[in-house]
Amino acid sequence: MAGSTHAANSDKAVPREFDVAVIGGGLVGSALAWGLARAGQRVAVLDEGDVAYRASRGNFALVWVQSKGLGMPQYAHWSARSADAWSGFADTLKAQTGIDVSYERPGGFHLVLSQREYDTRKSLLERLYAQPGLDGFDYAMLDHAEVKRRIPHIGPEVVGASYSTRDGHCNSLRLFRALNAGMQQHGATYLSDHIVERLDYAGREFRLGTKHGEIRAGKVVLAAGIGNARLGPMVGLHVPVRPQRGQLIVTEKTAPFLRYPVATVRQTDEGGVMLGDSQEEAGFDPTVGTPVIAVLADRALRMFPQLGSLNIVRTWAALRVMTQDGFPIYEQSASCPGAFVATCHSGVTLAANHALVVAPCIAQGALPRDTFGVFSARRFDVQAAA
Ligand SMILES: Cc1cc2nc3c(=O)[nH]c(=O)nc-3n(C[C@H](O)[C@H](O)[C@H](O)COP(=O)(O)OP(=O)(O)OC[C@H]3O[C@@H](n4cnc5c(N)ncnc54)[C@H](O)[C@@H]3O)c2cc1C
Repeated sequence: MAGSTHAANSDKAVPREFDVAVIGGGLVGSALAWGLARAGQRVAVLDEGDVAYRASRGNFALVWVQSKGLGMPQYAHWSARSADAWSGFADTLKAQTGIDVSYERPGGFHLVLSQREYDTRKSLLERLYAQPGLDGFDYAMLDHAEVKRRIPHIGPEVVGASYSTRDGHCNSLRLFRALNAGMQQHGATYLSDHIVERLDYAGREFRLGTKHGEIRAGKVVLAAGIGNARLGPMVGLHVPVRPQRGQLIVTEKTAPFLRYPVATVRQTDEGGVMLGDSQEEAGFDPTVGTPVIAVLADRALRMFPQLGSLNIVRTWAALRVMTQDGFPIYEQSASCPGAFVATCHSGVTLAANHALVVAPCIAQGALPRDTFGVFSARRFDVQAAA
């Protein structure tokens, strides 16, 4: 999605040398930059201008754990670790910047509209949580009556739901603003309209070529979302990510009726109701299409019939950053030490980990193998060879 970026501290003369250059000022880059600057690093964030693919301005704002990690149980732990850290993280951002990101964790529901959907959901969660090391993950499959007891406004077509206490949501646009303000308060330099066109490594230093000249840094972090696929090979990293389109709807504001986040319907702290979100292989096309929007609206209406009386105020599409197995990539380059990549499709959920776990490791110069080895892109070489 094209979206405006934040005010940059750019009227001052821009320094040219930094400890770390973060490429990409989306939620991943901003969370990392916040954590790196907080750890005392001199940080520059090089971002595109207002017109760019930027998932961070188009997401659904869930901080979500349930159903994540089938095929990689470590990802379930990684998501849960971030969700567990989120409350403290939100408090820290508020104390620093005064911005309340409205994080709440009442538990989350995934509603189903047929017995077939119920059985599919149940089977998925059973397989997921039967994986080694995941027996501590709680979830419940609830029937219509149990869901209605907790969410009285569901419609008669709701057959049931899966529920987990670990899930929550936030105001992700405010999260984005808080991270940007917070990183600059910690001393980071945010450079809008600085597309990195070239990336060279020589003499243990990275040189980043932009139309405004060169920036030099001892370390570089690729956090450019789908742009990482192009940048990775410049520093010996393979970053196989592709765009996946998601479309969303938001209604006019209404009185609070939905306390819990539901995977495809959530009432924001400001009163609007977000209805989402599709998963489409549409290449780099970020346009909204009526057929998909109609399906989203229809399903949401069947879940909550009262939505029928609300006006839609906006629809949009944004491009997720997707790997072929759906799991993140965190890796340091073997041929260009000091070059890191961080990319995932759940940058809201994982923001706390990026700020509080990944950034301090990068500041120290290494991603410990016991935590991050599983997230290396080398897993795709193994899959390709198998
Ligand atoms: C429809 C939808 C719903 C979503 N819902 C959720 C959700 O509920 N929960 C959740 O956790 N996540 C969700 N996400 C995902 C979440 O929004 C992203 O993971 C998050 O935004 C992080 O993205 P990012 O920073 O990696 O990429 P982006 O936001 O795309 O940012 C990448 C940045 O890099 C910049 N860039 C690219 N190339 C260059 C270059 N060469 N030089 C300089 N800058 C460059 C771009 O301009 C951009 O600012 C959703 C995403 C979508 C699309």
